[in-house]
Amino acid sequence: MATLAAEPLTAEPLTAETYPPPLTEGEQDGLVQAIKDWSMGNGLAVRPPPAVIPVDADPAGIAAINAPVTLFPSPFPRRCFDQAKAVQPTYNELYASVSRDEEFLGQMVKEVLDGDDFIRNLWQTHLRVKEEGYTQPLSLGLFRSDYMVHRDGSTSPPSLQAKQVEFNTIASSFGGLSSFTSQLHSFLASTEYPLLSRPMDVGALDLPECRPVEGLAAGIEAAFHAYAASELGHPTCVVFLVQSEERNVFDQRHLEYQIVKSSPTIPVFRLPFADILTHTSVAETAKRQLLYRLPRNPTRVLEVAVVYMRAGYGPGDYPDRDAWEARYQLERSAAIKCPTVLTQLAGTKKVQQVLAAPKVLARFIDDETTSAGELWKTFTNIYPMDRSDAGLEARKKALDAELCQAYVLKPQREGGGNNIYRGAIPDFLRSVPEEHWGSYILMELIVPPPVSNLILRNGRVERGGVICELGVYGTCLWNQGTGEVLRNEEAGYLLRTKGDKSEEGGVAAGYGCMDSCALV
Ligand code: ADP
Ligand code: MG
Ligand code: MG
Repeated sequence: MATLAAEPLTAEPLTAETYPPPLTEGEQDGLVQAIKDWSMGNGLAVRPPPAVIPVDADPAGIAAINAPVTLFPSPFPRRCFDQAKAVQPTYNELYASVSRDEEFLGQMVKEVLDGDDFIRNLWQTHLRVKEEGYTQPLSLGLFRSDYMVHRDGSTSPPSLQAKQVEFNTIASSFGGLSSFTSQLHSFLASTEYPLLSRPMDVGALDLPECRPVEGLAAGIEAAFHAYAASELGHPTCVVFLVQSEERNVFDQRHLEYQIVKSSPTIPVFRLPFADILTHTSVAETAKRQLLYRLPRNPTRVLEVAVVYMRAGYGPGDYPDRDAWEARYQLERSAAIKCPTVLTQLAGTKKVQQVLAAPKVLARFIDDETTSAGELWKTFTNIYPMDRSDAGLEARKKALDAELCQAYVLKPQREGGGNNIYRGAIPDFLRSVPEEHWGSYILMELIVPPPVSNLILRNGRVERGGVICELGVYGTCLWNQGTGEVLRNEEAGYLLRTKGDKSEEGGVAAGYGCMDSCALV
């Protein structure tokens, strides 16, 4: 590795004292009204949780509400923003490469499967398909790499770095809503902000372009076009695999609408994960095409070119053996999967931990390049919880009432709400059989600089300190067999913001809200 040492970036002043500007009650109400209308007018929306609109108040299921959103774009250091965007193609390449390394992934799985049936079942699914042989060499990744700004106070002046929280290889969400959040803040900057009694220098607001809808849809379209024409004479299609009770449906619909807008000839369907076996089958041919029978008209059969998974990332979608059979059916079919089981496994926290250890990157990418050096700078310290020397050291930290305050303990799960933070770690660990500790990783907490904002959630405004998490999307299409990369693009950003008293930041999980960047 050429440049191991992180180059300190100079801290830009973050104006937590002056931004966002103070609002009179009337101004706040006006801003809220503008946001409520713009959001519903433009699809910056979610289906309501029952606590907000009870099911019996909306038996037809026609209600939608504003997605939680900040009243102002949050200041975000330009250097960190540029750093995260620039490194995305290298991350895409890295994770495509990890997905192809079955031996490496097998080792990772072995280290966590004692305490983790979900990961064990995923691996079994891969092994079953491997036995008869994969028929689709192409693999699609719609990735999202998440970061927080790390403020290193040990240097003078303090330095700022984008540090990776995690890398998502399955169901990376909020690209749809993110495009619209950015547009909302731009709209407010040209209509509402200039009218405030403490007018902001709106001209100085640097709101970067944000187009993940186009970027992510283009990734799916690229895979669709790379799928060989049907030999069976059926029309080909894209299937969005979704959860039945999904509330974040418009986020997904925006991608679907974009595909239909830019490629009107591509049919796109939504299929609940629980209905895979009912509505799809695998052709008894050498190629094993995935056939989709339209539920509303079962005589219409389409061949699935791309399966885009917005479900299947956690144990909740696999209540029984049939659910695993359904995943197996997709995996053994000729459809291009986004993601394959192997790519899903590449996105585990265990893999992230191992990649952050010295010398491991070289196995996957040319680690002498500047871009690999840039990627390395985004890593933070992550430790195994196994019986290795590093693992035993980490166990000491995790069990110590003082030391544990600087860490988060993570299982191999996605979707938010699964981590254990700071002082809760020792008791949690003691409640888990020691032979299962290896299925967790211990990560240093990233401490971002203070930012404040106002959050509009379920019609109420909360004001205070917030923590921002940047996500950068990437699309990658590659050949699992040859390693040839057919597409590798950075695909826009997401900013999610949570109150600084909240540990978790997932918007869907109810903790965070949508935001956009005002670069400083
Ligand atoms: P998931 O796959 O469930 O989203 P994450 O690793 O993203 O898991 O963790 C969930 C949330 O926990 C993040 O969005 C972030 O708010 C917080 N978090 C995770 N790791 C860290 C960290 N190292 N430092 C600070 N906050 C973290
Ligand atoms: Mg995740
Ligand atoms: Mg996350």
